[in-house]
Amino acid sequence: MIKIENLHKKFGELEVLKGIDLEIPTGKTAVIIGPSGSGKTTLLRCMNLLETPDAGKIELGSRTLQFGNNAKIKTAELVAFRKQTGMVFQNYNLFPHLTAIENVMEGQMIVLKRSKEEARKKALALLDKVGLKDRADNYPHQLSGGQQQRVGIARAMAMDPQVLLFDEPTSALDPELVGEVLKVMKDLAKEEITMVIVTHEMNFARDAADEVIFMDDGIVLERGTPEEVFEKSQNKRTQQFLNKVT
Ligand code: ATP
Repeated sequence: MIKIENLHKKFGELEVLKGIDLEIPTGKTAVIIGPSGSGKTTLLRCMNLLETPDAGKIELGSRTLQFGNNAKIKTAELVAFRKQTGMVFQNYNLFPHLTAIENVMEGQMIVLKRSKEEARKKALALLDKVGLKDRADNYPHQLSGGQQQRVGIARAMAMDPQVLLFDEPTSALDPELVGEVLKVMKDLAKEEITMVIVTHEMNFARDAADEVIFMDDGIVLERGTPEEVFEKSQNKRTQQFLNKVT
């Protein structure tokens, strides 16, 4: 389970997260939607500490971090916390000088201290899962954007994280490549993997989310099942947003 309480984040004078409360049960898929600039990516980056929240609490697995009030968190604690998360980035962020399989092995060997053999075995199984076993020895530049992103997903999963975080994973892709990445994510959503996904793909949210979270101007304005948010929302802001994007 990931639980967030009263999370705040400012960039200079700009208050981007204004007190976020969330709870995502183990094995569930939460999809965060909302207008541009509402703080979706910042929230996701706070969840794996790529951004440090100014105040609030994040609980993940057996670990809890409290921010603010001059709370000093030890680097070892931050590292241990981050190890529990896997991030899939908008621009894949693969190492260009490593092959697909080496990209999936690297973190396993360096961070988790797995043997090369063990890391390779796991990487191959995950590349198979995302449909790329036969491209294991290709370098990123030899792969399409959709294939690179699927390697990115395999790489995040290789670390056996408690939660997989996706930051607009299809928004850098050519339209014809979006489907193959969403298909992999939909398959994962059916498994017992906890996922938090920021996306502008409303059909995906409708089909794959256990919970849809609508963010607006730094707060969670509404959350519920896809049906509750997409079909039954009484909230004017939600309706306005959905009318624009669907
Ligand atoms: P989009 O859908 O366009 O990606 P978003 O909802 O994900 O938007 P964020 O990327 O979280 O929104 O950004 C929220 C606000 O915070 C924006 O006004 C953005 O310009 C600002 N912001 C984000 N990161 C930084 C940063 N590192 N420094 C300063 N301002 C930032």
